[in-house]
Amino acid sequence: MGCDGGTIPKRHELVKGPKKVEKVDKNAELIARWSYCALSQEKLRRPIVACELGRLYNKDAVIEYLLDKSAERPNTEVAVHIRGIKDVKELNLTDNPAWEGERMNSKGDRYEDLHCAMFICPVVGLEMNGKHKFCYLQTCGCVFSERALREVKTEICHKCGDPFQESDIIILNGSKEEVERLREKMDEKRAKAKAGKKSKKSKAAEAISKSEDVKEGSDSPKTSSSEPRPVAQKGEAASCSGQGPSGTSSASKCVKPTSAAGSKRSIQDMEGKSEAYKSLFTSHSSAKRTKDQTSNWVTHTPYHF
Ligand SMILES: [Zn+2]
Repeated sequence: MGCDGGTIPKRHELVKGPKKVEKVDKNAELIARWSYCALSQEKLRRPIVACELGRLYNKDAVIEYLLDKSAERPNTEVAVHIRGIKDVKELNLTDNPAWEGERMNSKGDRYEDLHCAMFICPVVGLEMNGKHKFCYLQTCGCVFSERALREVKTEICHKCGDPFQESDIIILNGSKEEVERLREKMDEKRAKAKAGKKSKKSKAAEAISKSEDVKEGSDSPKTSSSEPRPVAQKGEAASCSGQGPSGTSSASKCVKPTSAAGSKRSIQDMEGKSEAYKSLFTSHSSAKRTKDQTSNWVTHTPYHF
């Protein structure tokens, strides 16, 4: 910085312009958000998923996080709203034919064109490099530029033809306000789902209480829905441990965990499980990597281009 060896510092050496610094950071952040996993900070690679707030992740990073949430990892605060694998959607991305990326630049000694994105919009061909707004559909996971969705009004997906609604569109890596709106939408949706579950549960409990004691007449609905619930939960717990009365409606819920615990077979050999379920585990063939695909070095700061 000067000042040593008798040099006289000039103003520009002492005063840093705040504007310039901000601009660089913003640019770096933008590129990082579109090409690195928001959770693991590794380069995005398929399968890529997005959450309800429109952040991009590598699917294996999300699964790793979900399998052991207690493990100490940097950056987990970005994923606290992901409760299960159902809270993320695997994206159906369109490859950019101009992108050569890793294949060409595997040794890292080549100039990497930061504006050349891995993926493009399948409708208008815009590159997904952070300069244009992109959205994905929660129904099918297809990704489009916002321009495509705005200009070509449609109710079926441009790419796969699945029907969707306005509310299924989620902006990827949106601005602060957009993320805030998405968060509100998510909270609303979850509250609704919770309420729906509760009413189902209380209905089931009501049915049980009706079959158990018929003489309970016309009470107010408040007492009939709140009282029998602990009874139903008790029955569930008892049948789970294997000594409760079988044949109740709650017993069927417990079949899955007991059978899973009793067998030592690999999940991949199970017949009743779907391929999608199996693919969640590292023993699945899609999770296996060749030796040169696995890296022994992970950088958690993506600002090294
Ligand atoms: Zn689609």
